[in-house]
Amino acid sequence: ATPTAVMVATGVGANNGVLIKGAESLERAQMVKYVIFDKTGTLTQGKATVTAAKVFAGMDRGEFLTLVASAEASSEHPLAKAILQYARHFHFFDESSPTSGTKTDAEEFKSGWLYNVSDFSALPGRGVQCDIDGRRILVGNRKLLEENGINISREVENFVVELEESAKTGILVAYDDILIGVLGIADPLKREASVVIQGLQKMGVVPVMVTGDNWRTARAVAKEVGIQDVRAEVMPAGKADVVRSFQKDGSIVAMVGDGINDSPALAAADVGMAIGAGTDVAIEAANYVLMRDNLEDVITAIDLSKKTFFRIR
Ligand code: ADP
Ligand code: MG
Repeated sequence: ATPTAVMVATGVGANNGVLIKGAESLERAQMVKYVIFDKTGTLTQGKATVTAAKVFAGMDRGEFLTLVASAEASSEHPLAKAILQYARHFHFFDESSPTSGTKTDAEEFKSGWLYNVSDFSALPGRGVQCDIDGRRILVGNRKLLEENGINISREVENFVVELEESAKTGILVAYDDILIGVLGIADPLKREASVVIQGLQKMGVVPVMVTGDNWRTARAVAKEVGIQDVRAEVMPAGKADVVRSFQKDGSIVAMVGDGINDSPALAAADVGMAIGAGTDVAIEAANYVLMRDNLEDVITAIDLSKKTFFRIR
């Protein structure tokens, strides 16, 4: 392609919110064999909502939700945001809550209703832990609870499995070494996701999904969107290894992701595509920025590359 053709393509991309970093990025996209998609915030809308909250210990529902929300208050994770919103709604507005309708100032509404926590830590790929009232609280996935030797009863396990089979993420909560409850969190697919996956397959490109979420939820989401190849329970650092494993036979691999978690994988890919407003780190690591947060632009990017380079070969 002539420098003019590259310039034109770059301009067409920019008009569609597809920012291309350099001629080499533009050239490589047409050779892509695998497109690896992050799940949360990339294939899904990244707008998690709590759809179920079940208390298993003899604990009051409001008490349970306030404990969980207090533990999650210092976390930046989308799951934490969903949990806080749900618990806050219960505390201030749910008719079955004794604190419903309480008049409050802004500070009370934001965090004044939460318990004080100490020793907080966020555990990537697992959840959070801290102390409340001198007792340890753990909020996260099975792995987190198992590592801490918390007993998961058959009843709890069945409930979590049920959530996961319907594509929801189950978040388990232990307080003072006892499992006190489970939250189910849903994050709907982006509307265009399935069509884009089909489109890629028609172009001979193989879609893959990678996620830190558990296997059962991951498989349910992959099935919904039409992806056959899934890699789940991947720790943040492991996503780049997944990219490398697909590159082993010399294949050109694209990675599409939105989070800080994804930046090593975006950097490792031959074609890294940061999607959405994303984090600066992800944008930095990528060859493409898909500003519209629309998965169709993955195809736009490949098409643009083909139109610019394919015909003259
Ligand atoms: P993803 O690759 O889907 O963005 P993450 O690596 O961020 O996933 O998280 C993987 C899993 O770790 C989540 O599905 C959840 O089970 C657990 N987890 C992570 N952070 C939190 C949190 N703040 N609260 C509860 N669970 C969490
Ligand atoms: Mg993500």
